[in-house]
Amino acid sequence: MDLLNDLNDAQRAAVEYIDGPSLVIAGAGSGKTRVLTYKIAYLLAKGKDLYSLLVLTFTNKAAKEMVERIRKMFGETFYIRQKYMGTFHSVFARILHVESDKIGFPSDFTIYDEADSRSLLKSIIKEMDMNEKVYKPAAVHARISMAKNHLISVDSYESDSDIINQDKRAKMPEIAKIYREYVQRCRLANAMDFDDLLVYTYRLFIERKDVLEKYGNLFKYIMVDEYQDTNYVQKKILSLLYNAMQEKAICAVGDDSQSIYSFRGADIDNILSFTKDFPSQDGKEAKLFKLEQNYRSTQTIVEAANSLIHHNRNQIQKEVFSKNDKGEKILYKPAYSDKEEALIVAKNIQRIKRQDDCGYDQFAILYRTNAQSRSFEEEFRKQGIPYRIYGGLSFYQRKEIKDIIAYFRLVANPDDEEAFKRIINYPARGIGATTVMKIADCAHQNQVSFWEVIGNVEHYGLNVNKGTQTKLEKFRLLISSFIDRSHTLDVYELGDAIIRESRISEDIMSGKNADDLARQENLEEFLSGMQTFVAGRQEEGRMDEAYLTDYLQDVALLTDADSEGEKDEPRVSLMTIHAAKGLEFATVFVVGLEENIFPSPLAAISVRELEEERRLLYVAITRAEKHCILTNAKNRFRYGKMEFDNPSRFIDEIDASLIEGGEEAPESSFGGGRSSYGGYGSEGGYGGRMPWDRDRSGYRRDYQNSKPVASQFMADPKPAFASSAAGSLCEGCRIEHQRFGIGTVLKIEGTGENTKATVEFQNAGTKQLLLKFAKFTIL
Ligand code: ATP
Ligand code: MG
Repeated sequence: MDLLNDLNDAQRAAVEYIDGPSLVIAGAGSGKTRVLTYKIAYLLAKGKDLYSLLVLTFTNKAAKEMVERIRKMFGETFYIRQKYMGTFHSVFARILHVESDKIGFPSDFTIYDEADSRSLLKSIIKEMDMNEKVYKPAAVHARISMAKNHLISVDSYESDSDIINQDKRAKMPEIAKIYREYVQRCRLANAMDFDDLLVYTYRLFIERKDVLEKYGNLFKYIMVDEYQDTNYVQKKILSLLYNAMQEKAICAVGDDSQSIYSFRGADIDNILSFTKDFPSQDGKEAKLFKLEQNYRSTQTIVEAANSLIHHNRNQIQKEVFSKNDKGEKILYKPAYSDKEEALIVAKNIQRIKRQDDCGYDQFAILYRTNAQSRSFEEEFRKQGIPYRIYGGLSFYQRKEIKDIIAYFRLVANPDDEEAFKRIINYPARGIGATTVMKIADCAHQNQVSFWEVIGNVEHYGLNVNKGTQTKLEKFRLLISSFIDRSHTLDVYELGDAIIRESRISEDIMSGKNADDLARQENLEEFLSGMQTFVAGRQEEGRMDEAYLTDYLQDVALLTDADSEGEKDEPRVSLMTIHAAKGLEFATVFVVGLEENIFPSPLAAISVRELEEERRLLYVAITRAEKHCILTNAKNRFRYGKMEFDNPSRFIDEIDASLIEGGEEAPESSFGGGRSSYGGYGSEGGYGGRMPWDRDRSGYRRDYQNSKPVASQFMADPKPAFASSAAGSLCEGCRIEHQRFGIGTVLKIEGTGENTKATVEFQNAGTKQLLLKFAKFTIL
C-alpha cells in the first residue's frame, strides 16, 4: 500500500500487524507515534470505521495532529470526528457524559480541576478544624489522587495498615477522614475530579456489564501512545475493555527510558507486564516490535542522550541510532546568574534564528519547574522576542476566565459547590462570607447542595435576614433564567448573555490600568474562542453539539499543551519538560541544570527518584532536532533570596566529547574547562562530599584568587566592593559582576561616592555601574 512507503521496514511491520496484541518499545524519536498514526490510516483503508478505534494519546493536541495527518493522507474531504481519540481523561469523560446515570451520576456533572479540588479540600480541612500547615491541601490532594489512581476506595484506605503507617509518617494521620468527606462533597456537588473520570469509568465497566459489552463490541482496535506513563486504573480500564472485545486487538507504544510520571502513580512495570495483561485470543504472546532508528535528531544529540541514560541501571536494553547529519556538539553555557542565563538564551535564539533563517516557533525552553519561566519572560519581553508559556497559569486558569466559567458551570450543574462559592458574590451583590458560611452549614447538615438550600430557604431553616434573602433570590432567578435559555441558545449566545446580564462585562470593562486592559483582552479572547467553537461545530454540521455542556467538556479537559489560539505569529515555547513529552523542536534549551533544581532536591533521597530525573533530562534532550543547548546559573534568586548551587551532575554524565562550551568562566578563577567548573570533575569527583551539601568548599576554592562575590553577598548585603578598592580599578580591567558576568571596563568617571564605571559585558551588553553599589570582583 502506497500509504506505507514512508515508513522503514520495522515501522511498516508494526503497522501491518493488526491481528492481535502488539507492543512497540523504542527510544525517543524513532517513530512510535508515527506508527500509531499510520496504523489508524491503515485500518481505515482496510474499511474499519473511525468510531471503532479507541486511540489514547498523551495530549489532546497529539490526537488533533493525528487527525490532521490522516486527513492529509485521505484528502481534505475526509471528515473525521475525534470521538474516541484523545487523552484518557477526555475520552472517558465523553463516555461518562453519556453513561454516568447508570451508576447514579446525573450526566450534567461538572469536572473539578486541580484548583477546585484544592479549594474544596481547603474548606474541608478548615471545617474539620485541622491544622492547615500540617494538612496542606496540595499534599493531601496528592495522596488522595494516588489512592484513587490505585483504585483504593475510602473504606480500604481506612483499613489498609500500610497506608495508615505512611500517613502517620507523613504526620497526616487523619487523611482518611478528609478523603471520605471529599468524596461525599464531590458527589453532592455532582462533580468529578480528574481522577474520578478514571475511577468512575472503571466502576461503570465493573458494575454494568451491559455497558462494558456495548463498548467492547464497538471498539475493534485500541491504540495507546506513551504507554510507559499509564497508571494502575488506566491499565485496568484498558484490560476490561480488551477482554470485552470480540476480536482482541491492541497496540501500545512506549519507551521505558521516558517514564517520567511515577510521582503521579504511573507504573513502569505496565510495559513489562503488557504481554501478560493483554493475551491474544489463541493464547499466544503479544508481538513485540523494536524501532531503532531515530529520525528526529542529529547523531550527536542521539548519542549524547544515550550516554546519559546509560547511567540508569533499570532500563530495557535497546539501541537508538540516527542516520541524520552528525550535527553540532551540544552547547553548554554556564551563567553567573539567572538573569545572565536568560540573556545567553535570548542571544543564542537570535544567533541561531539568523544562522538557520527560521521562525521563533522552532525554539523551546524547557525547565524542571514552572517557576523558572520568569527570568526568561522578562528578558524576552525586553528584547521583543515573542513567546508563549505552556503550563503555569494557562489561559483557562486566569481569574477572570475562571469566574466566567464558574457561571457556565453553575448553569450547567447548579449543584456545583466550587462554582457556587466562586460567583455567589461576584460581581459584588452584597452577599457576604457569613451568609455563605450559613448556607454551607445548612447544606452539610441536610446533605444537600448549596443551590438546593437557596431554593428552599425556609424549608432548610436558613437563618438570614429579609434583605439577604431577597439578594439570594435575585441571584437564583438570574442563574435560573440562564438555565432556561441554555437549551435553546448556542454557547456563544448564551455566554454573551451571561457576561452582560451578570454584569461581569461591566466589572471588567470599567477599569483603565494595565491589568484591567489585560483582563479585557482576555475576555475578548474568551468570547472569540467561544465563537470559534460554535463556528467549528457549524462547519462540521454538528450544531447539536454547540451547547454549553459540550463546550464545558472541551474546556475542562484542555491540557496545557492544547491551548492554542494566538496563532498569529510564531513564538518561542516555554514549558516544563513534563509538558514537552512527545513534542519536537529544531532548537531546545534545557535550562537550570543545577543541583537542587535538576536533579531536584527530592532526588537526593533515592536512586529510583534520581533515575527518574535522569529520564527527564533524556526526554528534554531528545526533543531537539538540530541544536541542543544546556545552561545553568551559579547564583539564582529563588524563594525570595539568592541561592548558590553547583552545576547538575548530569552534565558530567554526558559523553564529554559531544559537548562544547562551559569555558565562559576565565581560567584564573575556574581552572578552565567544563569538568572543573563548580568544583568537581577534575578535582576528583565529589571527593566524598555530596554535591547538594550546603558547605561547598570546592565551590569557594575556585575563587581563591579573587573575592568570593557570592559568599560575600550572602554574608553582607552592603556593597561588596569597597571604595578603597576602587583605586585598583582601571580602564581596560576585567571584572566579574555578580549578575552581569564577565566584562571589560571601558571608562571610569567621577570621584568618591559617585564614581561610575562603564563596562562592556560579554553577555549583558554595556552597562553603567555606580561603584558604591556594584557587586563585582576584579579579575
Ligand atoms: P517520542 O519518543 O519522542 O514520542 P516517537 O518515537 O513517537 O518519539 P515520532 O514523533 O513518531 O517518534 O517521530 C519522530 C520524528 O521522526 C517525527 O518528525 C516523524 O515524522 C519522523 N519520522 C519517523 N519515522 C520516519 C520515517 N520512516 N521517515 C521519515 N520521518 C520519520
Ligand atoms: Mg511519540
